[in-house]
Amino acid sequence: MKKSVIKQIAMQRVKVLIDRALYSRDEFSDHHIVIAKKIILKYKIKIPFEYKLLFCKHCKNFIIPGRDSSIRVGRSNTKALRITCKLCGHTYRKIIEKHNQT
Ligand SMILES: [Zn+2]
Repeated sequence: MKKSVIKQIAMQRVKVLIDRALYSRDEFSDHHIVIAKKIILKYKIKIPFEYKLLFCKHCKNFIIPGRDSSIRVGRSNTKALRITCKLCGHTYRKIIEKHNQT
C-alpha cells in the first residue's frame, strides 16, 4: 500500500475517535483520545484546523470547547480565536483569517 493511502486511513480513524470522544463524552472519551494521539504521532498526520483547536498548545491535553476550554473571537484586524485552556490556564491565539492589506 502507498504511504499516502495508509495516512488517509489513519486520518479517518483519528477523525472517528475524536468525534466519538467529542459527542459521547463518556468514560471512554479519554481512551479514544489516547489512541487518536498515538495514531497521529505514529503516522505523523497533520490534523485539520478544527481538531487542532481541541488540543491545548501548552499542556497538550484534549480540551472540549465549553467544558475544558473557553473560546473567544478577538476584535482586532486579524480574525483570531482566543482559546483559554481551563486545565493549565494557558491562553493562546489561533488566527483564522488574515485581512489582505494593500
Ligand atoms: Zn492546557
